[in-house]
Amino acid sequence: MQNHSQTKKDNFIGNRKVLLDLRAILDGRSGCGFVKTAVAVIDMINDFVTGVLKSERAEKIVPNVKQLLNFARENHVPVVYVNDAHMQNVDVEFDVWPEHAVAGTWGAQVVDELKPEKSDFVLQKRRYSAFQGTSLDQLLRELKIDTLILTGVVTDICIQHTAADAFFRGYKIIVPEDCVEANDEQTQKAALDYLKRIYGCEITGKDKIMKRKWS
Ligand SMILES: [Zn+2]
Repeated sequence: MQNHSQTKKDNFIGNRKVLLDLRAILDGRSGCGFVKTAVAVIDMINDFVTGVLKSERAEKIVPNVKQLLNFARENHVPVVYVNDAHMQNVDVEFDVWPEHAVAGTWGAQVVDELKPEKSDFVLQKRRYSAFQGTSLDQLLRELKIDTLILTGVVTDICIQHTAADAFFRGYKIIVPEDCVEANDEQTQKAALDYLKRIYGCEITGKDKIMKRKWS
């Protein structure tokens, strides 16, 4: 069992590592070819995986997303979560969908397997797009990001609307097809095709992204 001062020292080292990771991101000193790239994780929250809007297809991509996020963190590539956090009885989405991801509830929390780490950024949204009414654009510009890797759910809804807003703002977009999902195969394929044709997204796989020169 660690004594108090040892725990304090470990905390200090842990916090310092987070600061150094952040500084490496901000300074672009990590030396990796993806220094202008960030990974966005959209709506990998309980309600979209095992909750009220659950999807086995969303469940299946969890290990892939996890692998890509760990890889990004090791290479000082910023990881930004943007999660639904709806206002109960207010948000327009509830005219279309059952009530889900109400701010402060279990359903709005990131799934256990993908919990954000200290060096990650976490934003909340109330619309499909991760840019709408959030500080995502501001954050990405402060981090000098020009390329966004989109992961999460749902490909033809929140991923697609986020891609649209990223495209309108001049970001390059990469979509690893094994890290996003729709509710069925046909919709997934159609959405990926749309992302490629309309927003010029590069559709690829996580393994190919991870094989690129990161350092
Ligand atoms: Zn929603």
